[in-house]
Amino acid sequence: MACVYIDDGKAKYLDRAYGRVGREKLKTRLIEGCVSTGVRFHKAKVWKMEHEEFESSVVCSDGVELKASLIVDASGFGSTFIEYDKPRNHGYQIAHGILAEVDEHPFDLDKMVLMDWRDSHLGNEPYLRANNSRLPTFLYAMPFDSSLIFLEETSLVSRTGMVARLRHLGIRVRRVLEDEKCLIPMGGPLPRIPQSVMAIGGTSGIVHPSTGYMVARTLALAPVLAETIAECLGSTRMIRGRPLHHRVWNGLWPVDRRCTREFYHFGMETLLKLDLNGTRRFFDAFFDLNPYYWHGFLSSRLSIGELFMLSLSLFGHASSPSKFDIITKCPAPLIKMVGNLALETI
Ligand SMILES: Cc1cc2nc3c(=O)[nH]c(=O)nc-3n(C[C@H](O)[C@H](O)[C@H](O)COP(=O)(O)OP(=O)(O)OC[C@H]3O[C@@H](n4cnc5c(N)ncnc54)[C@H](O)[C@@H]3O)c2cc1C
Repeated sequence: MACVYIDDGKAKYLDRAYGRVGREKLKTRLIEGCVSTGVRFHKAKVWKMEHEEFESSVVCSDGVELKASLIVDASGFGSTFIEYDKPRNHGYQIAHGILAEVDEHPFDLDKMVLMDWRDSHLGNEPYLRANNSRLPTFLYAMPFDSSLIFLEETSLVSRTGMVARLRHLGIRVRRVLEDEKCLIPMGGPLPRIPQSVMAIGGTSGIVHPSTGYMVARTLALAPVLAETIAECLGSTRMIRGRPLHHRVWNGLWPVDRRCTREFYHFGMETLLKLDLNGTRRFFDAFFDLNPYYWHGFLSSRLSIGELFMLSLSLFGHASSPSKFDIITKCPAPLIKMVGNLALETI
C-alpha cells in the first residue's frame, strides 16, 4: 500500500501495490532475452549517424560502421541524434535519494510513502518556510525493514534539503548504502514526427510529463514498436525508407496518444504554478478521485475523453481555495494545451 501525507494533520492511504525495480535483475533479464533470440552486440559509443534513402549507418567510436534498415536510438534524454521542431522547454524533477541503514525510522513497514508534504521539520525558520512554500519539496520513503530504508527528497523544479527532515523524523543514518542524485527532464515538445532515426525510452518523449515515470511505459510500448518494425521489415514486400519512418513514429505516437500527452503536459504546467498549500490541496482532491482516474492518470492509461472527465471530477472534488487556484492558474496552460491539441488533430 502507498500513502500520502498531505500535511501534519492529514494522511491518505492508497490501495494500490507499489514496487521497486531490481535494476540488475531487469537488465539481466532483458539481455538474456536478446541473447536467446540471436541479437548480436557491438560495444562502442555512437559518434555519427548517416542516412540514405533505404539504409542508415552508425559510425562508432572504435571506427566500426554498422549499416541498418532502421536505427532505433535508446541513448536517453540527452541524445543528439533526435531532432525537434520546437524549443525543448521541459521541466525537471530533481531528487536526492539514499538507501540507508538507520537506527530506527517512524514509517510502517507495509506502506511506502509516495509523497510526504509535511513541513514541520522546517521549524520556525521563516526563510526556509517561505522558500519551501514557493518551491515545495516532498519526501518519498520506502522502508524495507525496521533499519533499512530508501529515502528521497524530491522537487518538481528546484533544490532539495533532506537533512533537516530526517533529523525531525528522528532518523539517524548509520550507513549510506547507495546515494543517488537524479535529474529527470519532464515534458517539453515531442521529437519531429517522422524522422530517419526512431527513438525509444527517454529520448522518444514517453516520460510522463507530470510524474517523470517512464520505465513501465517503455516496457509496455517497446513491443508495440517492435511489432511495427517486424511488420514493415519482416514482410516479403519490405516497407523501407520514408514509409517505414512514418509507420514506426506514428505507431509509437498515434494522434490520440499525442493528444493525451498534451493533457499530461498541461498537468505539469499547472503543478509548476502551485505553491505548497496549492500543491497540498491539489493532491488532496486528486487522491479523492475515483481510483480508476488517478490510477489511469499516473500510468498514462486514460483516453482524452476520460482525461476531460477526470478534470471535471477534480474540479468537483476540489475545495473552494483549490477551485480558485484552478480558475486563476489554469487558463494560460489550458490555452496552450488547446492550441497544441488543435495542431495535433489538423
Ligand atoms: C534516481 C532516479 C530515480 C528514478 N526513478 C524512476 C521511477 O521511479 N520510475 C520511472 O519510471 N522512472 C524513474 N527514473 C527515470 C528513469 O530512470 C529514466 O527515465 C530512464 O532511465 C531513461 O531510460 P533510457 O534507457 O531512455 O535512458 P538512460 O537510462 O539514460 O540510458 C541511455 C543509455 O545509452 C547510453 N548512451 C548514451 N549515448 C550513447 C552513445 N552515443 N552511444 C552509445 N550509447 C550511448 C548511455 O550510456 C546509457 O547506458 C528515475 C531516474 C533516476 C536517475
